[in-house]
Amino acid sequence: MKLKTAILTTLLGVAAFSTWAELTLVAPEIPPAPLLYRAEAPKHEIDAAKELAVYLKRISGAEFSAAVVPETLPERAILIGIFDETLDQGLRADGFAIKTVGQRLYISGRNPGLSYGVYEVLELLGCRFWSRNEESIPTAATITLPEIDLKSQSPFTLHDIMSREASAIPRKLRMTGVENFTGGHTMQPMLKAYSGEHPEILPLNKKTAERKFNNLHYCYLAPGIAEALAVELEKVVAARKGALDFPIYFAGMGDWYGGMCQCPECEAVYEEESWTDPDGRVKPGYSATLIRMFNQVAAILEPKYPGIKIGTFAYMSLEAPPAKTIPAANVHIRVPRLRHCTVHAAEECDKNGSFRRNLERWCEIAPNRVYIWDYGVNYSNFLYPFPCINSIAENIRYYHRLGVRGVMIQGNYVTTGGDLVVLRNYLWSKLLWKPELETETILDEFFTGYYGPAAATMRTYVEALEAAVRTPDMIHADEFVKNGSYLKPPARTQLTELRQRALEAAGEAEPYKRRVLEATAGMEILAIDNSGSFKEVEGQLVKESAEAPTWQRALEAAGNCRDSGCNEWNNGRSYWLRLITNQGGPVHHLQSGGVKATVAPLMHGQLRQVEYNGKPLFNTSAEPLECGSHFTGQVLRGGPIPMQLTGEPTATTLKMQYHLKAGEWRHNSIQNAWQEVAIDDNGAVTVTLSASQRAQLGGGLHLSTSYRAAGDISTMAIVCRTPDGEWQEVTLAREPDQGRQKSRGDIGSVEGASAIRLTLPQQEITVTDTYDLAEITAITVLHEKAKKRLVVTVGAKLPQNIQGTEPQVIFRRTLQAEKQ
Ligand SMILES: [Zn+2]
Ligand SMILES: [Zn+2]
Repeated sequence: MKLKTAILTTLLGVAAFSTWAELTLVAPEIPPAPLLYRAEAPKHEIDAAKELAVYLKRISGAEFSAAVVPETLPERAILIGIFDETLDQGLRADGFAIKTVGQRLYISGRNPGLSYGVYEVLELLGCRFWSRNEESIPTAATITLPEIDLKSQSPFTLHDIMSREASAIPRKLRMTGVENFTGGHTMQPMLKAYSGEHPEILPLNKKTAERKFNNLHYCYLAPGIAEALAVELEKVVAARKGALDFPIYFAGMGDWYGGMCQCPECEAVYEEESWTDPDGRVKPGYSATLIRMFNQVAAILEPKYPGIKIGTFAYMSLEAPPAKTIPAANVHIRVPRLRHCTVHAAEECDKNGSFRRNLERWCEIAPNRVYIWDYGVNYSNFLYPFPCINSIAENIRYYHRLGVRGVMIQGNYVTTGGDLVVLRNYLWSKLLWKPELETETILDEFFTGYYGPAAATMRTYVEALEAAVRTPDMIHADEFVKNGSYLKPPARTQLTELRQRALEAAGEAEPYKRRVLEATAGMEILAIDNSGSFKEVEGQLVKESAEAPTWQRALEAAGNCRDSGCNEWNNGRSYWLRLITNQGGPVHHLQSGGVKATVAPLMHGQLRQVEYNGKPLFNTSAEPLECGSHFTGQVLRGGPIPMQLTGEPTATTLKMQYHLKAGEWRHNSIQNAWQEVAIDDNGAVTVTLSASQRAQLGGGLHLSTSYRAAGDISTMAIVCRTPDGEWQEVTLAREPDQGRQKSRGDIGSVEGASAIRLTLPQQEITVTDTYDLAEITAITVLHEKAKKRLVVTVGAKLPQNIQGTEPQVIFRRTLQAEKQ
């Protein structure tokens, strides 16, 4: 990008400039303006000056440097920090002022506002900070600035996106505000010890007539509870050295619905303070008991700490405000917008109506003391395309109009990446700073700058995604919606086509091609993230439901996921391994005489099938990770492991190594583990797993094998070899139900057994499966009659430390069949 164009583009939208090019920071005949900070400058001022010097050098190639200001202020200089107290007057610490005076440029502000001012200047010069690892920096030998006189700060005291991507560049996205909460779901732990001595504060359960700790609520009307909470909050005040300006001393309820106290006093207040919202929804006055308690806490703490701010959640069961009780002047309310409709804005659909009414009333009864916790992601799968770009953008403006004091948007806070995460963070961070900006204007700039030749098609892709939940019908979805169910088949077809068009538009141009792949990886994952049975087509396992092999697509999608895990509970590694091992992939056949073995390296090196004279031993019809599972990958930490061939397979041997590289995978993706499958002259099939000291072994091992076993169990002789070397019959008895898990069938086990022999009438063979493992705990046999299978599970302990770089055998198993 040429700098002049950048300035022109920027200027069109900025009214603060009146005349042109008053200040030259550098030009071929003019040396770089010195960057100066005060002699007494705190670290953040020096850091800000150095940061600006680095970028100005990147733009111009000239040697900008930061230094302490000399005694006589030079006529031409960039002055960073508080040189003139009047410049940032009236601004909070997260605001900044930029002013040109002759040939001097003042960037004025406190911490963190000063650094925001530095990035503002760089943006005025055409720099764009897209993401944690992407920015556009123009180059130009001449850098000039027009006359500037601007002050800037967010209308919100909190303006944060809780996302691993955004929190990697908090200053560039201006994520740090001036207020903070000292806790979250902290009320339960805070009062737990007290409740041990004073069970009267515990919530009453009417059914059991007991007061019992439930991790959600207390009896907020109980005598002594307000005093006890005040004592606990005072401890936090002391830990914060009595700070009163910025912290909001916080105690919030636990993290789910229900669990409210059912004592007669509380229930009377729920009734008395029941609130009917303007649309006629009647809401029990649960929050009244909480706010009454907080008002008492406020009254206790205010005289001791004048100006103290305390706060709590209006969350889940407590989201609705009370009918009568008004929060005291120093009680602050944090309202999470959970389990409404995320894909539509608060004012856009009726599913958000109740939340909207609740929030509006909180803003009335606690003016300038309401904070929002919004959710801008699909927690069931961070990667699935999720149309919440416009809804969150509109919500930010709505919160601003209502007078909400602070906004935090929770995204993928577990891993980096996530559907359109770069776009979301860019747009939302701009709006959190300036809600009055037009979404269109920000998007124009983003798409042009970020997607280059694919800008127009990517714009259409995002618009189609947003339209998918609006036309022809409104489709509502909250942040926990499963399976991408809001994207109907026509929308999926359209988005898949647009993805293809965007890729064609990007061609081989980088970084645009990679950006399109990353932004649309969710469509690929949506298409292939399913499990099911396989068919073998031309040497590959292909899903019955798929037209073509999907494993290459899975590898590519994993490489374009910006290291994202799928949801709150899975890290990137475990998820992508599962995604890949669910796709099947190449299979290899070994044969010797009448014995044939089939191995699927990508599916954790699974010995997928063994056939004797054409009769298959294993049950492979079920879910891929349940069937005939000779996991060896399971031995390695991280669960199922894709393997790759090493060397050329022969007719009777196949060697593999655990090895996978996917995108920006920062985890240890190469381990020294090897697996070999071989058939000897006697038809015995042997699987050997070796590892060296770099292998990350899991502690325990459960190797499961599912044998085809139709018919009467009494005809299937099942014996195990005990530690004494004797063969002992395995007695099966009905497995008991375990809570919600119903009995799967008949089960039995032999402690310490090292081999199992099964007679399978269907195959007319007897198979002996021998395990050579250091410490076998037991062999367990489960007969699932309905599924026509016998599942044999070997439990063992694994060696924790493997010395040396040479492969050492971790386990070996041998399957030997004889005709019955
Ligand atoms: Zn109660
Ligand atoms: Zn909706």
